[in-house]
Amino acid sequence: MKIFDPHVHMTSRTTDDYESMAAVGVAALVEPAFWLGQPRTSVGSFVDYFDSLIGWERFRAAQFGIRHHCALALNPKEANDPRCAEVLDVLPRYLAKDGVVAVGEVGYDSMTPEEDDAFARQLELAVEHRLPVLVHTPHRDKAAGTRRTLDVVRESGLPPERVVVDHLNEMTVGMVADAGCWMGFSIYPDTKMDEERMVAILREHGTDRVLVNSAADWGRSDPLKTHLTGLAMLAAGFGQPDVDRVLWHNPVAFYGQSGRLVLDEPGETGVSGAPGASGTFAGNSILRGGS
Ligand SMILES: [Zn+2]
Repeated sequence: MKIFDPHVHMTSRTTDDYESMAAVGVAALVEPAFWLGQPRTSVGSFVDYFDSLIGWERFRAAQFGIRHHCALALNPKEANDPRCAEVLDVLPRYLAKDGVVAVGEVGYDSMTPEEDDAFARQLELAVEHRLPVLVHTPHRDKAAGTRRTLDVVRESGLPPERVVVDHLNEMTVGMVADAGCWMGFSIYPDTKMDEERMVAILREHGTDRVLVNSAADWGRSDPLKTHLTGLAMLAAGFGQPDVDRVLWHNPVAFYGQSGRLVLDEPGETGVSGAPGASGTFAGNSILRGGS
């Protein structure tokens, strides 16, 4: 199985995770910028985080043969904190960089006026930079949040095929399909959406414009959920081409709209200007001493 995880927060994961992801076939991924659990108190905190997503984490993934890309944004939750407002001023500089294949995660957390403003401004940035957008939908009041999300996307003038609306479920998939946006599903260990429900949704809606991700982060989550969904699809009678479409070709088509995907294997020297599978990053390797 060849897998592209279109939404996973590797900064929060260990080298064991990278190893087991590579073992089941994860060859590429997108890490969206998000909330770290601990509130950030200044724009400098974001600058260092963005730098690590385009630098160190990309290098770290390459050590396991995985191509790392990222989506950058001020996340919905911290859009409510005035100390983080300046992030929107530094963002344009970052959206021009290699390895940045989308704006995200943007969208709503509690649907406040501050979130409205940050969401709309970042959709404008996506239009200006010709990038796709990863939109997070709120975990509470999901139907209303998704409806409002689609209204804001429509008003932005961004073509719907450049937008993935994520964390969908049985209640919200229909309206996103009708809007022409891509449909994102986060498969979690014991809440929200699981492999079996995902297979049922694929049966009903087909595989077109569907992205399946693990959304693994610092919370209870599992970076192998993409692979497990592929296995559940096969067990339910889907063919290998369907699995390949959902787990590889769809994310490649969606993020490929950025023109910045790097999908060759990380070699010794680092082809395509992206990090190679050996060497150091700013003098550091992931090894603890020599072997
Ligand atoms: Zn996320």
